[in-house]
Amino acid sequence: MAAFKPMPDFALGPDVPESGFVVTELGGGAYGVTEGMVNTMFLETTNGVVLVDAPPHLGGERLLAAIESVTDKPLTHLIYSHAHADHIGAAHQLDRSGLQIIAHEMTGRFIEEAHDERRPLPNVTFTGRRETLDIDGTRFVMDYTGDWHMPGNLFIHVPERKLLTAIDSFTPKNPPFFRLVFSAHVPAYFKAMDQMLEYDFETVVTGHMALYGTPEDVATNREYINDLRRSATGALQTVDLQEAAAAADVPGNNKQAELKVWMDAVVARAAELMPAWDKRIGGTDIFLTDNLNAVAWSVAND
Ligand SMILES: [Zn+2]
Repeated sequence: MAAFKPMPDFALGPDVPESGFVVTELGGGAYGVTEGMVNTMFLETTNGVVLVDAPPHLGGERLLAAIESVTDKPLTHLIYSHAHADHIGAAHQLDRSGLQIIAHEMTGRFIEEAHDERRPLPNVTFTGRRETLDIDGTRFVMDYTGDWHMPGNLFIHVPERKLLTAIDSFTPKNPPFFRLVFSAHVPAYFKAMDQMLEYDFETVVTGHMALYGTPEDVATNREYINDLRRSATGALQTVDLQEAAAAADVPGNNKQAELKVWMDAVVARAAELMPAWDKRIGGTDIFLTDNLNAVAWSVAND
C-alpha cells in the first residue's frame, strides 16, 4: 500500500469546529459553507436566501444552521450546479414549500433517470447555453458551456458580487480529484479553465474541501493540467505497446492485457516527466496516476 504524506498547511482550509461546519464570508452577502470534504455557497438577497446545491456531507440541518448563523431570511431558491448526488442529495431534507429549485433541463433529465428520492426534480428549468435570472434584485447568470464535468453542469456567475460557482471544476491548492474530477469530456475540461477566466470574479466556489479559489488558483490548475498533458503526450510518443507487452510477459493472445500494460507504462513514464509541483499544490501524489490516465487516453483518442 502506498503511504501518503500529510497535506501541507497551505493546501488546507480552516479547522472545522464542533458545530460541524464553517461559514466563510465571500463578500457582497455571499457565504461559503463546508464541513471539510464538500463546500457550497449561499447568498442573501433582498427577501431571502439563494442556496447552490445541498450536499449530503453537510445535510439539510447543518445547511440551514449555517444560513441561520448569518440571516433569519428564509431559503427561497435552490440552484442545482449539476445532477450528482454528492452535491444535491440533501435537497429532500430542505423545506420545499415555496422553494424554487432551478437547474438546466439536462440536469432535470439525469435526476429523473436516477429515480432517487433524495434529489427532488427542479421546478424551474432552462435549455441552451445561458440563462439569466434576477432573483430579488440579484442577477444570476447560469452558463452551460460544455460537458467539462457532466452534461448540464453550470457556471453560476453573480457579476455584481464578483462571485463564480463552478462545482467539481477543480480544488484550489490541490490537484483535481480522480480522472480530472471524473470529467465526461477531457477537452471540455481543459477549455473550462479558459472559460472560467473570462468571468469577472474575485472568488470561485468549486465544491470540495475547505478552500475557496481565486482567478489565480484557476490559472494554477490550468498550468498543472497542461503539464499533465505535456507529460502524457511525451510518454505516448516514447512508450511502445509491443515492448511494454513483452516486458510484462503478456500472453500473445491477450490483446486487452497488452493495452492495459501499455497504458500503465505510459502513465508511469508520464509521471516521471512531470515537473515538481509540491510547492504550489498539496497532495500531488494522490491522484497523479488517475489524472494521467484520463489525460493520456484523451490525448490518444479525442
Ligand atoms: Zn459531480
